[in-house]
Amino acid sequence: PSFFGQVPGAPADVIFALISSYKADSHAQKVDLGVGAYRTDEGKPWVLPVVKKADHIMMDDDALDHEYLPILGLEPFRKASVKLILGANSKAIAEGRAGAAQCISGTGAVYAGAHFLSKHYPIKGAACYISKPTWANHRAIFEGVDMQVLEYPYWDPATKGLDLKGMLRTMQSAPNGSIFVIHPCAHNPTGVDPTNDQWRQIADVMESKGHFPFFDCAYQGFASGSLDKDAYSVRYFVDRGFEMFIAQSFSKNFGLYSERAGNLTIVARSVEVKNRIESQIAKAQRAVISNPPAYGSRIVSVVLNNETLYGEWEQNLSTMANRIIGMRKILFDELIRLGTPGTWNHIVDQIGMFSFTGLTTSQVKVLKEKYHVYLTDNGRISMAGLNSKNVKYFAQAVDFVVR
Ligand code: PLP
Repeated sequence: PSFFGQVPGAPADVIFALISSYKADSHAQKVDLGVGAYRTDEGKPWVLPVVKKADHIMMDDDALDHEYLPILGLEPFRKASVKLILGANSKAIAEGRAGAAQCISGTGAVYAGAHFLSKHYPIKGAACYISKPTWANHRAIFEGVDMQVLEYPYWDPATKGLDLKGMLRTMQSAPNGSIFVIHPCAHNPTGVDPTNDQWRQIADVMESKGHFPFFDCAYQGFASGSLDKDAYSVRYFVDRGFEMFIAQSFSKNFGLYSERAGNLTIVARSVEVKNRIESQIAKAQRAVISNPPAYGSRIVSVVLNNETLYGEWEQNLSTMANRIIGMRKILFDELIRLGTPGTWNHIVDQIGMFSFTGLTTSQVKVLKEKYHVYLTDNGRISMAGLNSKNVKYFAQAVDFVVR
């Protein structure tokens, strides 16, 4: 008999299962709105021109080798990542209390932070609150390190916008010193972000309750096209004096999905505390991945540490952000033109890779079966999957299923 005869099979990951069914579909007009990866107007993946340049620079660099990186990663990458999210003039950087650990992309950074909190958070049994809804991996990661996961309201189906009241109410009633996982920009899956004034209200409550903010930043620069604008909430919380973690992903804003370049930025009260947190994360990282991979972080580092390339990167970011913002507008205009029942302002009000359409599970089913349009059951669409060739087809399909 097998040692593992008792092991039940686990369900397949919903997103990756969706990709498989899309690939297996031979219909000419099939549309993939599932996966959160940028596509060009031709529906193709995009290697950023600035990434190609960085690639060539690295290829010509005879000093590069394949030695191990330090456990916490490539030093210039870590420094530049911290500066990118906190801003060059951040007081946390000036005071030496901002730290960093290079991780296996955004997922690994969330994991590294969650694992640290599970071991060292001073309030035993403190719960971790995630937004309802959120990126499915949040629950999986925090439950995976044996933390209690609870939800705070976020999406209001009535307004198809932010449920600020519900969010603040839960923050208010949560035990003091709870952990809150927050999307700083381009909320996945809803595309709904708080305004600057709403961030102030959120910070007020979190401060008065002594909550710990854990930002998960997967879309800096990708959301609005502006790196500074997309970092507003994080920098505002730093200005307010919060200690916090920020998981950073370079998957979307550099198009480096498979290279797993990410960073956990740590903002602590003091240099000493920052150093101790870094040392614990290094100790834990050693036992999980030993040391992080170099290729993606080198590309990011080359670009972030070179003024000319940095400027080109910003242009590449604008190209991606603007194409997506443009698609929102075209989709909205088309639904209005068709007189599709319902309100559709949220399509243009939302930001980033995703839009929560408000389509129901049964409508999604018809989209898939009748129109060969693939999206998750919660009605989330990846705007990047839309382009000038399929947006009208998609609008017609939506028009059909909501009537
Ligand atoms: N966090 C959120 C909210 C995301 O949407 C994603 C990607 O979809 C990630 C983290 C991490 O992605 P990666 O591990 O590819 O950097």
